[in-house]
Amino acid sequence: MKKIIALVLAVVLAASCMFVMASCGDSKNNSSSKKEEAKELHMATNAEFPPYEYMEKNKIVGIDPDIAQAICDKLGYKLVIDNMQFDAIIAAVTSGKADFGMAGMTVTDERKEAVDFTDTYATTTQVIIVRDKDSKVASADDLEGSAIGVQLGTTGDIFASDVKDAKIQRFSKGADAVEALSTGKIDAVIIDSEPAKEFVKAKEGLKILDDPFAEEEYAICLKKGSDLTAEFNKALKELKKDGSLEKIVNKYIGD
Ligand code: GLN
Repeated sequence: MKKIIALVLAVVLAASCMFVMASCGDSKNNSSSKKEEAKELHMATNAEFPPYEYMEKNKIVGIDPDIAQAICDKLGYKLVIDNMQFDAIIAAVTSGKADFGMAGMTVTDERKEAVDFTDTYATTTQVIIVRDKDSKVASADDLEGSAIGVQLGTTGDIFASDVKDAKIQRFSKGADAVEALSTGKIDAVIIDSEPAKEFVKAKEGLKILDDPFAEEEYAICLKKGSDLTAEFNKALKELKKDGSLEKIVNKYIGD
């Protein structure tokens, strides 16, 4: 009898051990496969545009990465940021190399022909930066015939291209245009207002002209017809509604 009881106990014990191991293994598998399942979304950006995106100790930070992270957290994606030239972003999105582009990118009719845009998340203006002291450009009207620096492929580039007799110098970084202005190589830089403030703050002897140029709105661009656009809009709407978006902007833009 004792032997039988011992045998039964042993069998029960072995069975329950196996059960526990199996279920432990299971739950482990589940959680790791869940992690693996989080699909990566690649964001194409140009980290030369503070405070929207810039490098800080080898990391791309700024308003756009934070908003993108908040969207991906909401939708259950893993965010991967790919840094590239600004004028390569739309091609990266249309070719499918990147899932979306986010780079303080202004919604324009021309870009809308190539990509879809989400709802807008920021309003901005184009401004003119000049040297503080010896500037011959005091307003937008004075730009005629002057040497204007812009970042290649931006809306600033488009505006400068409309200025009569302007000698346009296209730089891959806004900061390089500002450097050329500072050393007297060009007369003015046309660029978005927030990076303009950052660049002027970082360099002596420059100022932003009072009359802003044109009002623009930023949005995220996606491949034409992408299902993600509706998902992104839903997440953006929630982030606007619950104050998260404002909080992110306030973190980088003091006023
Ligand atoms: N907002 C401008 C544009 O969309 C500049 C963007 C940028 O340089 N990152 O063209």
